[in-house]
Amino acid sequence: AITPAAPAARRSLQAQVRWKDHLLTLGGNAPVRVQSMTNTDTADAIGTAIQVKELALAGSEMVRITVNTPEAAEAVPHIREQLDRMGIHVPLIGDFHYNGHRLLTDFPACAEALSKYRINPGNVGKGDKHDKQFGQMIEAAMRWSKPVRIGVNWGSLDQELLASLMDENNARAQPWDAKQVMYEALITSAISSAQLAERMGMPAHQIILSCKVSGVQDLITVYGELARRCRYPLHLGLTEAGMGTKGTVASTAALAVLLQQGIGDTIRVSLTPQPGEARAQEVVVASEILQALGMRSFVPSVTACPGCGRTTSTTFQELTKQIDDFLRLQMPVWRHRYPGVEKLKVAVMGCIVNGPGESKHADIGISLPGTGEAPAAPVFIDGEKAMTLRGEGIAQEFQQVVENYIEK
Ligand code: SF4
Repeated sequence: AITPAAPAARRSLQAQVRWKDHLLTLGGNAPVRVQSMTNTDTADAIGTAIQVKELALAGSEMVRITVNTPEAAEAVPHIREQLDRMGIHVPLIGDFHYNGHRLLTDFPACAEALSKYRINPGNVGKGDKHDKQFGQMIEAAMRWSKPVRIGVNWGSLDQELLASLMDENNARAQPWDAKQVMYEALITSAISSAQLAERMGMPAHQIILSCKVSGVQDLITVYGELARRCRYPLHLGLTEAGMGTKGTVASTAALAVLLQQGIGDTIRVSLTPQPGEARAQEVVVASEILQALGMRSFVPSVTACPGCGRTTSTTFQELTKQIDDFLRLQMPVWRHRYPGVEKLKVAVMGCIVNGPGESKHADIGISLPGTGEAPAAPVFIDGEKAMTLRGEGIAQEFQQVVENYIEK
């Protein structure tokens, strides 16, 4: 028998991220979580709360905000308050660089309102100060019982560590190439920082690691090795993925390979928004990756053929878009009213060639008439032909049929 492909089991520890009574598990056998980040000035508490809400409603299960100045740190509890008032309990992650040790110490309300701290070991001070300032952040995490993400990025790699690894490499009989030294520096920076945090008393399962790079093959290489060397939960993301199709495809290519190997417990798709594009697009793409891999379900899926010379009119494209938009728009309400609705499969097909077959594989499907076919659109429900729609109002009628099916 042929074994169906499936993502390999993950072997990471399980972390807990909470805000008050709202608990989110990540790692271990918890679902792979979708994360995103705001691009507002955090000191603008209202603007940031609005964007966090937008990202959370799009499906982001954790939202990272930059905490870079005293003004930003001061705004964090107000952002949290605004979100709580709106009924948005998504955990907030504070992104710290350079001065995180001071901000977490000087602004206890900020330290408390955040649910997780992101620490970049390449940006916590140099020389003697490095371990001390890193330690201050770990102490704050322990004082407030918060998990941390030790997030290494090759754009801000610990230069002292890199220099010492290069010296070691030069002494080798057969030196590695520069890229291999870089991989080693990324992984060593993440794991040695996590071990230092553990020696300071931080529980291993509350330490999440990431090693972000901007090349697809580099990311696959680094995370493959990182997962082999440790069991800390891993946050995945292709950093600086870029705009639009390029960023979406590159992120999908890298993340899909790793997720299929059982690597990755949280993901972020770092898209540069195109002018006018919603920030939440990165959440949509991340969710779609997990749904396409069959790892999670967020919204009903609409299967549609691409259309071809047999497609008679634009009705087919319009109907596909209309149904897709309709299902997405209803999800915030339906998610609570009809548990499991996100697993629904709808098919919209352009002609008789694959239309009836594909429609039968879906929960509910329609096969629109193609060139030369009778002007009739058979609708299939649970694999059986249930009715035939005709005339101008096919789109509205089919939408009603889908709605009735979901209600039932
Ligand atoms: Fe073309 Fe019909 Fe195939 Fe759609 S199902 S791509 S319309 S042949």
